[in-house]
Amino acid sequence: MSEERISSNFIQAIIDEDLKNDSVYKEIHTRFPPEPNGYLHIGHAKSICLNFGLALKYGGKCNLRFDDTNPTKEDVEYVESIKQDVEWLGFTWDDRMFYASNYFGKIYELTLDLIREGKAFVCDLTADEMREYRGTLTEPGKESPYRNRSVEENLDLFERMKNGEFPNGSRVLRAKIDMASPNMNMRDPVIYRISHTTHHRTGDEWCIYPMYDYAHPLSDALEGITHSICTLEFEDHRALYDWTLEACHMPKPQPKQIEFARLNMTNLIMSKRKLRRLVEEGYVSGWDDPRMPTISGIRRRGYTPEAVRDFCERIGVAKANSLVDSALLDHCIREDLNSKAARVMTVLRPLKLVIDNYPEGQVEYLTAENNPESPEMGERQVAFSRELYIEQDDFMEEPVKKFFRLAPEKEVRLKHAYIIKCESIVKDEDGNIVEVHCTYDPESKTGGANAGRKVKGTLHWVSAQHAVPVEVRLYDYLMLGEQENEADDFIAKLNPNSLEVLTSMAEASIKDAKIGDKFQFLRQGYFCIDQDTTADKIVINRIVGLRDSWAKQQKKG
Ligand code: ATP
Ligand code: MG
Repeated sequence: MSEERISSNFIQAIIDEDLKNDSVYKEIHTRFPPEPNGYLHIGHAKSICLNFGLALKYGGKCNLRFDDTNPTKEDVEYVESIKQDVEWLGFTWDDRMFYASNYFGKIYELTLDLIREGKAFVCDLTADEMREYRGTLTEPGKESPYRNRSVEENLDLFERMKNGEFPNGSRVLRAKIDMASPNMNMRDPVIYRISHTTHHRTGDEWCIYPMYDYAHPLSDALEGITHSICTLEFEDHRALYDWTLEACHMPKPQPKQIEFARLNMTNLIMSKRKLRRLVEEGYVSGWDDPRMPTISGIRRRGYTPEAVRDFCERIGVAKANSLVDSALLDHCIREDLNSKAARVMTVLRPLKLVIDNYPEGQVEYLTAENNPESPEMGERQVAFSRELYIEQDDFMEEPVKKFFRLAPEKEVRLKHAYIIKCESIVKDEDGNIVEVHCTYDPESKTGGANAGRKVKGTLHWVSAQHAVPVEVRLYDYLMLGEQENEADDFIAKLNPNSLEVLTSMAEASIKDAKIGDKFQFLRQGYFCIDQDTTADKIVINRIVGLRDSWAKQQKKG
């Protein structure tokens, strides 16, 4: 990955300024801090590209840190998937993979000092009472009656919380800041809670856990992070971030929190909670269902890390929330695969075509280029015979205006092969067209006397006796509404037609393909061999169609 990948943005401006003034930071150190409570999605990819990208650009470092302070929702399955996703995107954390839970002991020690300095207290208010005492945006809060407990009593109670003497929810430790602060996050926030839950790493060692807002700045400081980049909803938490660093006497220079706008995309669900519901309630086949916006889903579908990184670069980083057109991601994958993906002919919805004047039993092999954009990808031989398949919608008995494909009496060229003319059709008793009969012009193939003869349409095709039946899965957006809206019942807005399964006929060369191989099926889009493929059955995902609505929009301007 070259350094120029990242375009200039407001975060770089801050870093440039910090580096100029070299008393601040000598080296850039960022982190990507997922909570291992689900699979990563394309929004996380933005954060990964940003954090690891900045480290690359400035010759600094980026840590992978699992923010595992909430044991009820976390699992090692998620840890493994997150590591795989970051690596797949092309980034490395070297030996810097950490867990917030590694710091539980250290954070506990720091907290004892905080209590000794009178900056934290054990509070026995119930959750309801605490809400009541908290005040509102327009009214100050009320101080807890437990706020003035002595240091000794606080130390004793906190230790007993740690020793498991109290049930969940009975007590918390709160920072003593300011109940009248206009910033609600500063109104004596909870910094430790009791949770008798087995943690995926520390087991039953702890039954008190630090809150995210408290553990995060401390973890950053303990790792020597310089720029702690997070999404906009943490803007109001920054005061608490800074308070924690100061109150716990973390060494200078301290990390700096910078917020940017999270990625939202049209027709996509980007909330982990909702994605989990889709998996758990069986609306999709799993976290890696190719319709999911998870990194594992788009990887399985056939998107490439190059395309995802290109996408993240193009959307940039900003301070204001916006909605990105999903068509842009599709555009990026087309751009990437255009020169890389071998061309293959596959008929998605087959219709039998018989060339009456072609000798029965004859087979000839025609030369086809593998990729006109990349001649170095070479050529292959495609079998041609008397019986072929073409697409059902490439034939119309009563053609509409401007239909340049096959129709009675009309001529088309078969790609890499001959010009044919439709002579007759065969229907079944229900009136469906089951066969199209044609004649061919033997002089119309490459090298023939009529090779240069022009006809309006060119169709892809496969030879019936050579073609391989394959299962093709076509995808559409999971969500019908453009925009994810918190108030909506998103299950009701799921697209009932997001998956269509076809039995198609592919050119014989597909037999050699391996899981993950990508192709352009002529006139049909980009496709990828799915992991459900077995010795008896080839399963293929459509990544995207060829029609680029994003590029079109840009042209219109
Ligand atoms: P949760 O609600 O479970 O915390 P989350 O989406 O915030 O979900 P995290 O695992 O906490 O997930 O996120 C890891 C990092 O990815 C955070 O720094 C977060 O700000 C960032 N991130 C999450 N969603 C997006 C998004 N849509 N766009 C950009 N960054 C994101
Ligand atoms: Mg989060």
